[in-house]
Amino acid sequence: MIKRHEEPVMVTRSSLPPLEEYVEMLKPIWDSAWLTNMGEYHETLKEKLKTYLKTPNLELFVNGHMALELTLQAMKLTGEVITTPFSFASTTHAIVRNGLTPVFCDINEEDYTIDVDKLESLITEKTSAIVPVHVYGNPCDVKRIQEIADRHGLKVIYDAAHTFGEEIDGVGIGQFGDASMFSFHATKVFHSIEGGAVAFHDSKLKDLLYQLKNFGITGYEQVEYVGANGKMNEFQAAMGLCNLRHVDADIAKRKVLTERYRERLGGVEGIRLCKEKEGVRYNYAYMPVVFEGYGADRDEIFAALKEYNIFARKYFYPCINDYACYRDQFSSDDTPVAKRIASEVLTLPLYPDLSLETVDEICDIILKCGEKTK
Ligand SMILES: *Cc1c(COP(=O)(O)O)cnc(C)c1O
Repeated sequence: MIKRHEEPVMVTRSSLPPLEEYVEMLKPIWDSAWLTNMGEYHETLKEKLKTYLKTPNLELFVNGHMALELTLQAMKLTGEVITTPFSFASTTHAIVRNGLTPVFCDINEEDYTIDVDKLESLITEKTSAIVPVHVYGNPCDVKRIQEIADRHGLKVIYDAAHTFGEEIDGVGIGQFGDASMFSFHATKVFHSIEGGAVAFHDSKLKDLLYQLKNFGITGYEQVEYVGANGKMNEFQAAMGLCNLRHVDADIAKRKVLTERYRERLGGVEGIRLCKEKEGVRYNYAYMPVVFEGYGADRDEIFAALKEYNIFARKYFYPCINDYACYRDQFSSDDTPVAKRIASEVLTLPLYPDLSLETVDEICDIILKCGEKTK
């Protein structure tokens, strides 16, 4: 018998360092009274992340969204930008808030990243960039995307919010394309409460990114760009430095939990899990499960788990092209795979301190649902 959890089990739970570790970091902030504007912790975190993410060029931001929005601005894009609707609101909003037109490409069935076979037919003379998403930590087909981009002279900016610390054949995921945005939001694998970073290819972009996150100020008494305020403060950087010490241990714990989910749910008829690719160092950010022809549908599984006070998430549902703010312009009918997967996918609870016992309970509930209706 599975008992209802007293405390709700959420889909994620923020990792926190031991309180003393963070408190210890505060003293120097009080001593210097330097709270934000690229202080000491900011600079230290930036250097440590360059090493960890294996990327030579990196700038920190107040959050991942501002990082993406300002990077698109820095690329001086025009016209249309191709992206996928199977992502978090941020990806498309960053495009639209730059005055650009999003063009939605469908996703593939295997890992829910951009369908490279459908990408080229969406390119027009107005296209200036591609913004693919390494969704759930599944790396896009970076090689083919780059080939297409090169053929048409397009910029590639990855939404790498889910892929902190991932590598393809030993190469940091942030090294692909012209730039990659990482999110350090509290719910992500690595966080600085709120926070984000951009890894970029052309070292000349450094000054521009720095200026854009600081109101477009380019010098004393000189403002050259319509920038924003995208600076990471010292309290965020301090949290980032603490969490960086523990992130490898956290990823190792996530791996064990993911393996248990895979062991229990893999191979069950009607349940689809993403296949892992050779040569990828994963961070085990999410546990997406697609129910297709299973004894119970996604919404039934969601409701069944809720009975036990367990909250999975319909992530990503709805598709971005079905949002109220975009509904008059776009429709998920144009991206049928994304539309279907969005209605069948559930991300299951996954965070370092989740117990294997709870994972087993979640799997038991799901498997029981499947039998019941058969
Ligand atoms: C979290 C997330 C973002 C935005 O990052 P914030 O740091 O929350 O601003 C962007 N894209 C995706 C896919 C995300 O999951």
